[in-house]
Amino acid sequence: MTIQSNISDVKARIEQAATECHRSSHDITLLAVSKTKPCDAILEAIAAGQRQFGENYVQEGVEKIQFFSDRTDLVWHFIGPLQSNKSRLVAEHFDWFHTLDREKIAQRLNDQRPSDKAPLNVLIQINISDENSKSGIQLEQLDELAKYVSLQPNLVLRGLMTIPAPETDYQRQCSVFRKMENAYQQLQAHYPSVDTLSMGMTDDMAAAIHCGSTLVRIGTAIFGARDYQR
Ligand SMILES: *Cc1c(COP(=O)(O)O)cnc(C)c1O
Repeated sequence: MTIQSNISDVKARIEQAATECHRSSHDITLLAVSKTKPCDAILEAIAAGQRQFGENYVQEGVEKIQFFSDRTDLVWHFIGPLQSNKSRLVAEHFDWFHTLDREKIAQRLNDQRPSDKAPLNVLIQINISDENSKSGIQLEQLDELAKYVSLQPNLVLRGLMTIPAPETDYQRQCSVFRKMENAYQQLQAHYPSVDTLSMGMTDDMAAAIHCGSTLVRIGTAIFGARDYQR
């Protein structure tokens, strides 16, 4: 399978899931998660028309952004956990940040965002079901963090992101995603800038789309399995 044919398969799956719930696939962004994959693989995805890429590791992501610096049509999303001492690199190089979970990081990203760049697009990460993960805030903490982000001039609050605990059953995937959909709709009612619900990966993208996802983060189905040894 080539990356090009994988991308058209994923787009067909997005199309089908959208049709099943009477949504337009135009309202669902495909984010290609290229972590651990070489620039050659990204080039193939670009040739297939892909423009939005997600990276998990700061150094690796910045190297790729710099490699593709003449491609001003690409959009780069940071989707991994971020230590505060690395926030400057994210603020200086990325367009989106999906994993905000505390004020301190928001403040640093705001202060470090270069003035010649558009404000950084920020999603707040919610820990919706994963008791083993320390990433993301509880829903009860959302109002306070959303307000804080909305007051930062160099950040734009665009919505929510989640990585649920692994779950293969469709109904159980959905019951978790529905909680996110509710929180997202409430947030949207307060903040007009909110237009993005980042949820759904290779194994749960259909359920996520059925529950209102506007952005799916797809790695394996596009680039194949990852080899973390390399
Ligand atoms: C790796 C990763 C993905 C992609 O997962 P796949 O199952 O390979 O599609 C999506 N989101 C985040 C936050 C990731 O770290």
